[in-house]
Amino acid sequence: MIAGVAEQIGAGIRRLLAPNAGMMTGPGTNTYLIGDTEVAVLDPGPASGKHIDAIQQNAPGPIRWILVTHTHPDHSPGASKLAAATGAQLLGQPPPPGRVQDKTFSPDRILQDGDVLETGEFLLRAVHTPGHASNHICYRHEATRWLFTGDHIMSGSTVVIDPPDGNMKHYLESLQRLKSLDLAALAPGHGPLIENPVETVDWLIDHRMRREAKVVASLRNHPDLTVRELTPFVYDEVDRKLHHLAERSLLAHLLKLELDGSAVQVNNRWRLSS
Ligand SMILES: [Zn+2]
Repeated sequence: MIAGVAEQIGAGIRRLLAPNAGMMTGPGTNTYLIGDTEVAVLDPGPASGKHIDAIQQNAPGPIRWILVTHTHPDHSPGASKLAAATGAQLLGQPPPPGRVQDKTFSPDRILQDGDVLETGEFLLRAVHTPGHASNHICYRHEATRWLFTGDHIMSGSTVVIDPPDGNMKHYLESLQRLKSLDLAALAPGHGPLIENPVETVDWLIDHRMRREAKVVASLRNHPDLTVRELTPFVYDEVDRKLHHLAERSLLAHLLKLELDGSAVQVNNRWRLSS
């Protein structure tokens, strides 16, 4: 994948990589162009003039719709710019409160779970998948049975669950739900197409549950620590430079255990419930 050069990856589906490679974005954000005669743009990415130009140059027809999976800064800030340039309709859910949200995204049409965008060429169905972000939507492309997964699932790494908008309990429920959707492939917001959706979802659930088991074991062996103090025990295999991110995911695990009735916090110190 090369930034700025669209690749046709399926019937009427093109992928265009944004020029924002980095630690949190991998090779960069994938923008998808769906349709051959009238185009829907899915996740226009950051508000990069270069990328907005590339989207317009690579679209095989007029851009009528812009869909976003969620309103993190690497997915939606290009939307209002692209809409201003094309007159396209904006679809998705508005940003929830929080400092990492793109406040410029204001949808013309607010999508709920099950809502569809149907054109003469394709049908996309919204699947509300809270967890990574409370307003996260995946889109199922009905003809190919592909799911555009945004940051719900990405290739090559697990996603950060950052409370309070990120919610581990909802994330696991949203993963579980994908298993009932009859999917042929996952088209993620970062990285290449994933062609074994069921195994991938099973692995992700298993990975999170193994981490939860490690959280429980660490609470048993080291009760009454803060999240920061607990992090090196739970993420002992992770580079210390990444522990500030791991701390966020650990907090997400702890809040899930608290909701499940398995852990409690007193003065920000955590222990298993007795
Ligand atoms: Zn995100």
